[in-house]
Amino acid sequence: MAKSKLASISSMTCPRCRKGSLFVQPYTLANAYKMKPACDSCHQNYEPEPGFYYGAMFISYILTAWIFIIVGLGLAFGLGWTVTQTLIAVAVLAILIHNLIFRLSRSLWIHFFVKYKPSATAETSTDI
Ligand SMILES: [Zn+2]
Repeated sequence: MAKSKLASISSMTCPRCRKGSLFVQPYTLANAYKMKPACDSCHQNYEPEPGFYYGAMFISYILTAWIFIIVGLGLAFGLGWTVTQTLIAVAVLAILIHNLIFRLSRSLWIHFFVKYKPSATAETSTDI
């Protein structure tokens, strides 16, 4: 059973075959930001051009802003926290989820440009 696009984005797998991982495994602090150069399964190039992931910064910004606005407003108005408590909580949240946001935004970005091809193999690999 093939993964849906949403499942592929959230599990950070290759957008072309939806099997290979986008990031170096296992997850450690040393390789928290390292992407594989290509898919292990279909050899899709994960960096088709220099600076390909600059656009992912905008995705990251949008995700981060919405999460912090929702959490901040929820804490301040929902739970009645002070501004200082809310800012500290949001700062701690930023530290905890920054790598998740980094990876999700890159996964989303490459899924915008690379089309799903279930029959993709290493022999049929092309850039984007
Ligand atoms: Zn692949």
